[in-house]
Amino acid sequence: MSEPTIFERIVDGEIPAEIVHETDTVLAFLDANPLAPGHTLVIPKAPHKRLRDTPPELSADVFDAVRALTPAIENAVDADATTIGINDGPAAGQEVPHLHVHIVPRFEGDGGGPIHAIMDAGTDADSADPGEIAASIVDELE
Ligand code: 5GP
Repeated sequence: MSEPTIFERIVDGEIPAEIVHETDTVLAFLDANPLAPGHTLVIPKAPHKRLRDTPPELSADVFDAVRALTPAIENAVDADATTIGINDGPAAGQEVPHLHVHIVPRFEGDGGGPIHAIMDAGTDADSADPGEIAASIVDELE
């Protein structure tokens, strides 16, 4: 058995957190290093690493919670909008190997960018053939 993740330890009550929502399957709590006031993490209680590892009903529970929490958080911190994201895998910046959805409240003029600001697309993205990529994705789903 691998070491429990920090998020399992929060689920188990071993590590304190500012919990804002809890169901039988899902927990939401404030991020300890918030990008903005109200920055919240929503996790399945079961320790699945990535979205693909998470059973469909459980990922639906996670996204139901995200949907309900987003306006509640915006209202609580008087935000104007929200960025919602998952670092899905280490190469995408995932540090805690336990699926978590970031809900980051956004404010007019907060200096943050859109999702497109996370990386410079560079020329590779432009030169790839979108038709071939789309066909490969369709094949993978079959
Ligand atoms: P990741 O980079 O894996 O997508 O995000 C992990 C997030 O977990 C980070 O935003 C980090 O601030 C947060 N985090 C790490 N350790 C703790 C902790 O012990 N408590 C809480 N509440 N958040 C944590």
